[in-house]
Amino acid sequence: MEKKRCFWVDLSSPVYIEYHDREWGIPVYDDEKLYEMFLLETFQAGLSWITILKKREFFRDAFDGFDVKKIAAYGTEKVEELMQNAQIIRNRGKITAAVQNAGIFIDIQKQYGSFSEYLWGFTKDKVIVNQEDTIPVKTELSDRISKDLKKRGMRYVGSVTIYSYLQAVGVVNDHDKDCFCNRKK
Ligand SMILES: [Zn+2]
Repeated sequence: MEKKRCFWVDLSSPVYIEYHDREWGIPVYDDEKLYEMFLLETFQAGLSWITILKKREFFRDAFDGFDVKKIAAYGTEKVEELMQNAQIIRNRGKITAAVQNAGIFIDIQKQYGSFSEYLWGFTKDKVIVNQEDTIPVKTELSDRISKDLKKRGMRYVGSVTIYSYLQAVGVVNDHDKDCFCNRKK
């Protein structure tokens, strides 16, 4: 029998199926992975997630394997190089935000010991399980995190982006009730 998956999974897209089955909603505590998803989510704003997923390996190449320290040190020359890279999202605002956000990500690591400590601190290490039938686009939790990140100077971290991030790194579990990945049962 075919596995039942969340309604939004495009079954014609192996990359989407793989992402849904092996990443989405699974708690992440590793800062490198947390940063990779963070960078990708900030590039999503206004685009579909599948667009980003398909470009993920191009992003990895273009952004030094998602090395947050290297990205924080990017100068104008590197920004111009990225602006010429047709394989990624050539949006100056998002690219310069990525550089600025990387520096702030590192500041948070220094302040909290890790970004993971900071992030999971918002839920006291608990996974938030959505009990509703519909998936929200943002919640009080994402509002709070978004506000805090903006206060620290981050950009492209609106509440909708942050909610999507929380789902991606498993702070929130939004799998459908009948999805085989749903561990609430
Ligand atoms: Zn699911």
